[in-house]
Amino acid sequence: MTTWDTCHCHREHATAKGFLRCKLPALKWITGHGDHALIAWCGAPTITLWHDANRAADAENLLHAIRCSTDCRQAHQIVHIDHTRKARQ
Ligand SMILES: [Zn+2]
Ligand SMILES: [Zn+2]
Repeated sequence: MTTWDTCHCHREHATAKGFLRCKLPALKWITGHGDHALIAWCGAPTITLWHDANRAADAENLLHAIRCSTDCRQAHQIVHIDHTRKARQ
């Protein structure tokens, strides 16, 4: 699984949601809680967050099946957000 642990701002973010909002300013919406992000890149990026990697994988399978939007091109990705990592010195 892909892990994102650094944001361009090099600050530590309190939550994965804060990290993703900062890292992806084009984000359309983000919902849920947890450090596993299911990202749909098909239009403006949308994200659902999950505590559990297995739940995120289930959600991804569902998204592939029902499609995220009318513009869906199956560009879905799960990323683990390691937002607590300290900025590099
Ligand atoms: Zn940031
Ligand atoms: Zn899609």
